[in-house]
Amino acid sequence: MSEVPPGTASATDASATDEGAFWQHVPLEAMSDAQWESLCDGCGRCCLQKLEDEGTGEVHFTRIACRELDPDTARCRHYPTRFERVPDCLSVRPLDRQKLAWLPSSCAYRRLAEGRGLADWHPLVSGCRGSVAAAGMSVAGGTLDERRVPFHRWPEHVIELVDDEREPQVR
Ligand code: SF4
Repeated sequence: MSEVPPGTASATDASATDEGAFWQHVPLEAMSDAQWESLCDGCGRCCLQKLEDEGTGEVHFTRIACRELDPDTARCRHYPTRFERVPDCLSVRPLDRQKLAWLPSSCAYRRLAEGRGLADWHPLVSGCRGSVAAAGMSVAGGTLDERRVPFHRWPEHVIELVDDEREPQVR
């Protein structure tokens, strides 16, 4: 297995947009910065380290988090300067097929790119940031700092993320 880049976590308040359900009619590539940022639900899953099976290409998430992730809030401590601090931090804009594979299936960007809409628990739908944790999607309180786990032990920390596909309703 080999390491793949950690992702990003943004934390823009959903109220930054005032255009209704823009994600239902504005393509990802045409979104404004505010629309794009408001899509991030703050789950922190993309900030988990991943291992890629070199044979199958399958990506496995671990509970080991980027050193810049706040383990209590699941937010990046240095979001505006994350690329300077962590050069291999995954930039999700623009998205491509490889990047999609490194995002969890629950990620709003991946869901929209795959035509699945937003889940009921997404803050833009629920109107509440707390709905992400309530649905079991946040990594807050469940990660290990990458600096405390040697790389050869990462396979011991592979996890199964809660599957958001159990949630049939999308918006
Ligand atoms: S996985 Fe997607 S929705 Fe969750 S924090 Fe990362 S970019 Fe945001």
